[in-house]
Amino acid sequence: MTSVDTTIQLISAGAPGTTCSPDLAKGPWEIDLEPNPGYGPGSSMGDIIPAGAPRQGQLPAEYRDASDIELEARIVAAKATLGDRAVILGHFYQRDEVVAHADFVGDSFQLANAAQTVPNAEAIVFCGVHFMAETADILARSDQAVILPNLAAGCSMADMADIDSVTECWEALEDLYGTEPDETDRVPVIPVTYMNSSAALKAFCGEHGGIVCTSSNAATVLEWAFERGQRVLFFPDQHLGRNTAKAMGVPLEQMPMWNPRKELGGSDAQQLHDARVILWHGFCSVHKRFNVDQIDKARVEFPGVRVIVHPECPMAVVDAADEAGSTDYIRKAIAAATEPTVFAIGTEVNMVNRLAAEYPQHTIFCLDPVVCPCSTMYRIHPGYLAWVLEGLVRGEVINRIEVPADVAEPARVALERMLAVRPGASR
Ligand code: SF4
Repeated sequence: MTSVDTTIQLISAGAPGTTCSPDLAKGPWEIDLEPNPGYGPGSSMGDIIPAGAPRQGQLPAEYRDASDIELEARIVAAKATLGDRAVILGHFYQRDEVVAHADFVGDSFQLANAAQTVPNAEAIVFCGVHFMAETADILARSDQAVILPNLAAGCSMADMADIDSVTECWEALEDLYGTEPDETDRVPVIPVTYMNSSAALKAFCGEHGGIVCTSSNAATVLEWAFERGQRVLFFPDQHLGRNTAKAMGVPLEQMPMWNPRKELGGSDAQQLHDARVILWHGFCSVHKRFNVDQIDKARVEFPGVRVIVHPECPMAVVDAADEAGSTDYIRKAIAAATEPTVFAIGTEVNMVNRLAAEYPQHTIFCLDPVVCPCSTMYRIHPGYLAWVLEGLVRGEVINRIEVPADVAEPARVALERMLAVRPGASR
């Protein structure tokens, strides 16, 4: 079992280069009580947690002060006591010392589905970020409690689109386009939200004829939307929307950006009339760090290197890579390589390092030489995991994530539309 450490060095074992902030060595509880904490330190260090986001209180001292070895022993003991009453889910981007305790490791959608395969579980402990726990709650039985060990584990990208701004945008588009379908029965615009969004936005899509997508099925979902609508409003990730639509042949000039802080999103009425995909001004702070210079450097240092990046990376990076695909795609591509291969990967460093350890026959490294994990995922320190598990042993449910029924129902509609398009889709 991996021993627990609060420092970045542990999760970046084997990775060359420096970290993006010395503050990464601090315990996440050092920011829990700040009045207006940012998402940093880490990749999303420039982003500020929205005022309405759930707040994490002070982690009890017995967990803050516990040694790594003590925390590990307490987690193992609590897990053994709970048996199959609790299931622990660990996202691919999660720290190793938390993933070591997970019953399932995967992407957000795989994990939400995995939870449903454990019928005896009364509690689903989701070691990921807030929108993932919400999705698990939407798909779980009502008597199952979904727990997020640290409420401050949000997602800076998901928070870039909130329900009020999207509703304002929608009303402006309705003023512009009207609401009547054209002669082929296609409505003016279909909303499509990436899985990385709040439950409220999934519900918005469910209520407005829209759908959810993942990075695995974005092209199939866009095809579905184009059959039903003249255009798509895609949120929150501009890069996934642009990369996917471009690969489908949509010209860049037909993909205007919607910046919620600007009049008409920063576009003019003609651009919006001509649009096929309107891209929300959102991005992932982790994947935004990748650039073409890193790929050029990898090609010089390792001739023949296979470069695979996540489609949340900017378009120029996706264009310069050999392949682009979801976390699941990246995993499968490496697993399928029969000859020793050098892989340069453009996604979160924890996942890349874990793949490197899992497949020692290959040389696998992260394109970004600066170690900069998803700082929100990183907030699920083992101390928080021990805290919520021991709470369950005492019969106390800590940090339950509950999506209200009036949001969960339409959100489920949008998720089910996605499943009907391609069952088993994953992020
Ligand atoms: S890697 Fe990016 S999109 Fe994923 S949880 Fe972290 S900030 Fe959000």
